[in-house]
Amino acid sequence: MSQGTINVSVENIFPLIKKFLYSDHEIFLRELISNATDATLKLKHLTNIGEAKVEYGAPQIEIKLDKENKQLHIIDQGIGMTADEVEKYINQIAFSGAEEFIEKYKDKQGEEAGIIGHFGLGFYSAFMVADKVEIITKSYKDEPAAHWSCDGSPNYTLETSDRTERGTEIILHISEEETEFLEDARITELLVKYNKFMPIPIKFGTKTETLPKPEDAKEEDAAPTQEVDNIINNPAPAWTKQPSELEDQDYAGFYRELYPMQFEEPLFNIHLNVDYPFNLTGILYFPKMTNDMNTQKDKIQLYQNQVFVTDNVEGIVPEFLTMLRGVIDSPDIPLNVSRSYLQADGAVKKISSYITRKVADKLKSLFNDSREDFEAKWNDIKVVIEYGMLTEDKFFEKAQAFTLYPTVDGSYYTFDELQEKIKDNQTDKDDKTVILYASNKEEQHSYIAAAKDKGYEVLLLDSPIISHLIQKLESEKEKISFVRVDGDAIENLIKKDEEAISKLSDEEKETLKTFLTETIPADKFTVQMEAMDSTVSPFIITEPEFMRRMKEMQQSGGGGMFGMGGLPEMYTLIVNTNHELVSDILNTKTTKKKERLVNQALDLARLSKNLLKGEELTTFIKRSYEMIK
Ligand code: ADP
Repeated sequence: MSQGTINVSVENIFPLIKKFLYSDHEIFLRELISNATDATLKLKHLTNIGEAKVEYGAPQIEIKLDKENKQLHIIDQGIGMTADEVEKYINQIAFSGAEEFIEKYKDKQGEEAGIIGHFGLGFYSAFMVADKVEIITKSYKDEPAAHWSCDGSPNYTLETSDRTERGTEIILHISEEETEFLEDARITELLVKYNKFMPIPIKFGTKTETLPKPEDAKEEDAAPTQEVDNIINNPAPAWTKQPSELEDQDYAGFYRELYPMQFEEPLFNIHLNVDYPFNLTGILYFPKMTNDMNTQKDKIQLYQNQVFVTDNVEGIVPEFLTMLRGVIDSPDIPLNVSRSYLQADGAVKKISSYITRKVADKLKSLFNDSREDFEAKWNDIKVVIEYGMLTEDKFFEKAQAFTLYPTVDGSYYTFDELQEKIKDNQTDKDDKTVILYASNKEEQHSYIAAAKDKGYEVLLLDSPIISHLIQKLESEKEKISFVRVDGDAIENLIKKDEEAISKLSDEEKETLKTFLTETIPADKFTVQMEAMDSTVSPFIITEPEFMRRMKEMQQSGGGGMFGMGGLPEMYTLIVNTNHELVSDILNTKTTKKKERLVNQALDLARLSKNLLKGEELTTFIKRSYEMIK
């Protein structure tokens, strides 16, 4: 037996290790299982190349709880270590690695500690949860087994052991404060979280399996059962395979494996597979999106060689894609650095733009291969695409090929197709092509009907970020202007279309305008007289497009310009001077009656724009009853 003192240069490293990842103690298990996996894979390699003359067989890693003795065992059948190797790898190398790691990061907290915390400090992380750690290990080489033991002080003992099976057993004597790691449920939780897809089968206890009933069994006989190893992982998850080996149902099956609680099927998947200039594999899924973008996040899992690292891929995947689900596995993402560093890292940038490109390519091929299917899915995927167009210029360019603009009637156009549909004379006073759209079919029904009546196409654009995207499209594309059906360009269009002759003289118009301005709330409405087709409503309320957009952008954040203050209400009241009712108002004798007609007509216009609420609505209803009695 030998004894020694681990060479400590940091003032006692063990308390530091315990304190270090205060919230992340649990990663010790992942670290030890990673070591066990490495040791097993190394043996496989050595037997493959004929270096190790042993039977590789079908090795497992076993996790065992011994509650009575407050121990947790991690047992592998890997290469093992000789006493010299324990001396070298555990006392010297592993220790100096841990020491260096702690030196570097002990003062980091919060954001900085975020991703670093996901990166372990190797074997010594065992001391985060154990007072004493033992290693019993037998090398594949013909040498006696070794038994190392360390009680959390820098002193250790190293002696020979009578273990005969090849491999390593790590015994953790779980400390008083960490007894949660003696609970089956907690260990299962950790194994599922970190080790679900590791490449060597991991056994944790046994489970009862029901066997099929024998042919001659009676109705009332219970089905036979047997005890089998409880293997917690799938050592060959779908993303490690070639796309050519996988069928649709394999992708669907893997999705359920990743999200057992998710009952909805994904819409489609994207298999990522690169080995140059960096290594990356993975499968991303497009789930059905809801309009609430935040609840969708944090569903992509990041792995490093099949070991779970984090489900926060911010900085690695472009933000708009964090709404997707699935797995990314790359040994080339540096995980021992902070997020701000990650974002600036060249390799990470390349990975991010590769993923963006792959997603755009996939969308394009889905669009080309089956446009009908793509249209059917559009509503469920548009938020991601629109968000991507807004935030990634490269994606914006590529998205031109497949972004759809649905109409209120359920047709879907690409931008180019849309431009063909637009009438030649559909331009505003600045000679820009006006694209009419609605954001809500129900609320804007009368405006949509009026526009359609005149033969205009009306788009249905109802995403939460649409005003931002429209802004972007207007600045990227030449001479176009989006106007909501109840916005201020519609009257220009209608007027232009009709070239109607006014029934009222200029003088009559002036008289009526003055009366109206005095009667209606002048701080909210600007009155505008227009000679339109007599079938168009007498009063129409529109809201200046820029005003409404400002409000929307302020609501969805990012407008910025107006700070805290609410924006004033500002509407235009367009009076169709060719409508019979308008002539009636003009010709009504008593002022009281005239006012009543104006208020009633104004309220009806408000009602159709969904602006009539509260007391004003009550007054309107009362007045209406009086008028019909
Ligand atoms: P790392 O795994 O990053 O090298 P560790 O501190 O986790 O650092 O481990 C140090 C070394 O100890 C490993 O490189 C390996 O040589 C050896 N080792 C650790 N665990 C085992 C094990 N289960 N079987 C064989 N060797 C091991």
